Amino acid sequence: MFNCGLEFDCLLKVGSYNIFMNVVRYYPFAGLLFALFYLWKKSNFFRYKIQEKYPNVDKIKKEIVQSFVTLIVFSGIATTVYILNKLDVIHTKMYRDPELYGGVSYMILSFILITIWHETWFYWAHRIMHHKKIYSYVHAVHHQSVNPTPIAAYNFHWIEAIFEGIYVVPFLLVLPMYYPVFLVHTFYAMFLNMYFHSGFEFYPKGFTTNRFFKWVNTSTHHNLHHSKFNGNYSLYFNFWDRVMGTNFKQYEESYEKVVQKRDFFQKSEELTPIQ
Ligand SMILES: [Zn+2]
Ligand SMILES: [Zn+2]
Repeated sequence: MFNCGLEFDCLLKVGSYNIFMNVVRYYPFAGLLFALFYLWKKSNFFRYKIQEKYPNVDKIKKEIVQSFVTLIVFSGIATTVYILNKLDVIHTKMYRDPELYGGVSYMILSFILITIWHETWFYWAHRIMHHKKIYSYVHAVHHQSVNPTPIAAYNFHWIEAIFEGIYVVPFLLVLPMYYPVFLVHTFYAMFLNMYFHSGFEFYPKGFTTNRFFKWVNTSTHHNLHHSKFNGNYSLYFNFWDRVMGTNFKQYEESYEKVVQKRDFFQKSEELTPIQ
């Protein structure tokens, strides 16, 4: 937001603004989801829980602390991009005039393109991080959450956090993006990430076998990745996992078990006579 130059005072403002924006949009929303599912309406939402057990408090504390490392890295990337643009080393194509590039139709196209790019970047970076020579040094931090909560969404080692955040830079070097659309993308990415780590599944029966919806990922999909590790690597869509054959074989079956458990609890509640 700031456009004040390269003086120390200005860089301090840019850096602080980036940290502030990252922190205020992450912790309150992740915290709200956590409070709702794990504390306030815990018994109401239990039927939607993917794993029956709840994670222990120490794991949750680690997720809160480690997410802060990721937020600092994301802010560092944004500040570095600002500096490199000012130094004319790079020229990212973010724009603020809604009339440019054909207006709304290009805005929608750029949103679709960054989603496809993010999906592809995430899948392949994720698979590299599961390589046995890399996994224990970097990605193992994220997998400490075997039973994740919404606060595990940004629970990354700082090296992984760089890969998680830097994908936007090559995209913005090639394709222009309207700043508010870029913000919508980052919010969308963050919220879906929280949902995929929430530990809860709200999608309906048959979702993973429907000819259209099977291409969209569920919360169960990423939850299985956390409990079983080497499979289900994709992000928003079930495209790369299907093409590369990396979905867990029992994915659809596990999904249906989660939905059946939900229906079972719902029916038994309905059958319980009111006292
Ligand atoms: Zn992983
Ligand atoms: Zn994860």
